[in-house]
Amino acid sequence: MGSSIRKKETMTNTDSTTNKRGRGALRKEITEHGVSMYVRRGCRCDICRSARYQQQKSYRKRSDEVKLRLDPTPLLQRLEATGDLAEIHRNKRQQWLKNGIDVYWADYWCIKFGYHPSEIFGAAFYQLTNEEEAA
Ligand SMILES: [Zn+2]
Repeated sequence: MGSSIRKKETMTNTDSTTNKRGRGALRKEITEHGVSMYVRRGCRCDICRSARYQQQKSYRKRSDEVKLRLDPTPLLQRLEATGDLAEIHRNKRQQWLKNGIDVYWADYWCIKFGYHPSEIFGAAFYQLTNEEEAA
């Protein structure tokens, strides 16, 4: 995808392309590669694509936070058994017990203590992450 000309453009600094056309409105609007360049100029260089990816990922994370929750009991039991329970603040544990633990944080904490989330939560973890993929 993309002609060699396009590629050359993205390799060099954007200034060289904007200077050719003079310092127009485009330059004022978009000064560097990133999400705006991706959306408005249709640039698909590595920088723009990864910026866009990060944006969508964080958006998805926020919107899913409410529904993707697990019962924290297996994780708490495991940490209690290994004596690591104190690593997690009491307030946080109570919140988990009350609201469930967000799947992203479940992932985070399991990995932090050296477990794979499925090892702790079993099929429930995969069920939630699959729902996320499908959404
Ligand atoms: Zn770009």
